[in-house]
Amino acid sequence: MKLSRPQLQANRLSLLRQIQNLGPWIEGTLVTTARKCGKDNCACHHQGPRHPVLFVTWKEAGKTVSLYIPRQLEAEVKQWTENYKRLKELIRQTSEVQRQLVRLRE
Ligand SMILES: [Zn+2]
Repeated sequence: MKLSRPQLQANRLSLLRQIQNLGPWIEGTLVTTARKCGKDNCACHHQGPRHPVLFVTWKEAGKTVSLYIPRQLEAEVKQWTENYKRLKELIRQTSEVQRQLVRLRE
């Protein structure tokens, strides 16, 4: 089904508004790993459970990079990573609308 130019332009406007209204984003995935702490007498150094630590990881030039996330920021950072996924989807959809607009001019 081919959309008309006005329909495509309306879709594009809607997509651009959604991008504009999106909250802040951060590239990456929120992951939890277990680490030993700095205290030699802590149970984590003597077969005890390790401490869960939060990171955001992403790729730079093919390498995985990570950023430590303080526990109190967990919910906020999770929202940012979800906004980033939404942004990528909106970018993909906008590109598709643009491709269709180009094809209408052929
Ligand atoms: Zn410890």
